Amino acid sequence: MTSKQTHTSRDCDEFQRQLPELFDSEQELVAHAHLQSCQNCSALVRDLEYIAAQAKLLLPIHDPSPAVWDNIQHALIRETKDGTKTS
Ligand SMILES: [Zn+2]
Repeated sequence: MTSKQTHTSRDCDEFQRQLPELFDSEQELVAHAHLQSCQNCSALVRDLEYIAAQAKLLLPIHDPSPAVWDNIQHALIRETKDGTKTS
């Protein structure tokens, strides 16, 4: 993984804010321009897809509650902070 990226953390912030909506339409999410240029968010989306797949196995509902998304986003934020340490 390279540490030199042209996007800004603001782009990531914006993208992750839209993530719950984008994730609802998987095709659109995969084709999202930000994912083409941001390995960080690509990795986050893969993690999120995995988490969502597990959640679907656990929960007999199609629409995760806002609390579920809140938990996922908190997990993502923690991971982002860990993964974007620069020296
Ligand atoms: Zn990003």
